[in-house]
Amino acid sequence: MPDRSLPLLANDHPVTRDAALARLDEFVPRAGPAYAGGRNHDHGPGRHDAVSRLSAALARRTLTEAEVLSPVVALHASGADAFVREVFWRGYFRGWIEARPVIWQGWLGALDRIDARLAQDDALAARHLAAVRGATGIACFDHWMHELAQTGYLHNWARMQVASIWIFTLGLPWELGARHFLDHLVDADAASNTLSWRWVAGLHTPGKAYLADATRIARMTAGRFVPIGLAAHARIPDAPPHPPAAPPRQPTAIAEGVPTLLWITPADCSLEREPALAALLVRAVAIIDPDGAAAGHGAQADRIALDDALARAAARWRVPACRVAGIEALAALAEEIGARQVVTGRIGVGPGMGTLIAARGALRRAGIALAEHVRAWDRAVWPHATRGFFALRDHIPHVLAEMVG
Ligand SMILES: Cc1cc2nc3c(=O)[nH]c(=O)nc-3n(C[C@H](O)[C@H](O)[C@H](O)COP(=O)(O)OP(=O)(O)OC[C@H]3O[C@@H](n4cnc5c(N)ncnc54)[C@H](O)[C@@H]3O)c2cc1C
Repeated sequence: MPDRSLPLLANDHPVTRDAALARLDEFVPRAGPAYAGGRNHDHGPGRHDAVSRLSAALARRTLTEAEVLSPVVALHASGADAFVREVFWRGYFRGWIEARPVIWQGWLGALDRIDARLAQDDALAARHLAAVRGATGIACFDHWMHELAQTGYLHNWARMQVASIWIFTLGLPWELGARHFLDHLVDADAASNTLSWRWVAGLHTPGKAYLADATRIARMTAGRFVPIGLAAHARIPDAPPHPPAAPPRQPTAIAEGVPTLLWITPADCSLEREPALAALLVRAVAIIDPDGAAAGHGAQADRIALDDALARAAARWRVPACRVAGIEALAALAEEIGARQVVTGRIGVGPGMGTLIAARGALRRAGIALAEHVRAWDRAVWPHATRGFFALRDHIPHVLAEMVG
């Protein structure tokens, strides 16, 4: 099936490595004071030049955080502090949820309960439908919901307004909004998305919610929108206190010197550049063919990113590039090439966990280990991401010195 929105995606939210590097080159001069001053202004679709629009590439690790920050810090030094901080927010949310996977499981469980309520509560269902269709009558909200549906992207500041209006003005459960974003965003990321929605709702920093404000919206959109009737108070949803942080899941370590099938997933699309993997005895590289029928910008971006990553990795190790239909086919391929282990990039808390568990089971039945590569960046950032962001912020200079140089 042809991808009709492909040109838009490729231009605006690059997920191939060459296109993402080109975007980075072009953006670096604007990552300093221009970013700090302009990043919160929303000029409308197709006019998001003040921000990098590298999130789709970063979410799939087509580019790594270190690769993005290296030229930025080299050019701007502390003049790029605002941009550097934003990139660290990504690692902060990822580290925080890896220490509390129960937050993700709790969200899934809550969705089941809310879906059951939606089936019975006509008023709630009608409000929800109006919101997802962008037909609430709140012009800015409706505009942003259409932009999200059409482009797969919303500026960070617009995401905050949408989430706040969703929760506090429309009175809808934050869990449904988080699902809608995850289904539509080209940069959909379980950690950043779930925890940002919780942050807006007042659940991440307990008692501190983000309330959208009409005057600020008018200012930041240069008067394009002047909403009336927005909630004046944030009614923070009930939720249990945060569970304590636990050490992140330790994946099976990679064995050296054994025949290996390299499996590329959307969790890490540039494994071929990892020095730590250079000595692997890779016999083939594989992707599980994404569901061709899956709609949405995120699914489309996955297909493009995986194709690109597969070609690069196969060229790097000079081995066959294989596309398999599913997990059983992945295990069969591993057996066929005599692999003793399958190596992949670490799969984090989120929708990929189900695939990981199923793959581990299928491979175990074939007597093959499934090992995951953990990036040095994650090992450096996550230990400081278990409390508030400020605890990590104090470590940014050390992480940069160690990882970016
Ligand atoms: C309700 C809500 C949901 C969100 N869902 C996602 C999501 O699913 N996936 C996602 O990648 N980001 C999410 N974000 C964070 C942020 O909106 C996007 O990362 C950012 O808008 C991407 O655009 P950009 O690449 O131009 O960002 P830039 O401003 O250029 O920032 C550079 C990079 O820093 C990271 N970053 C920037 N801001 C944030 C932030 N607030 N939190 C975490 N990382 C950040 C991203 O990787 C981004 O690519 C969400 C924010 C909110 C408020």
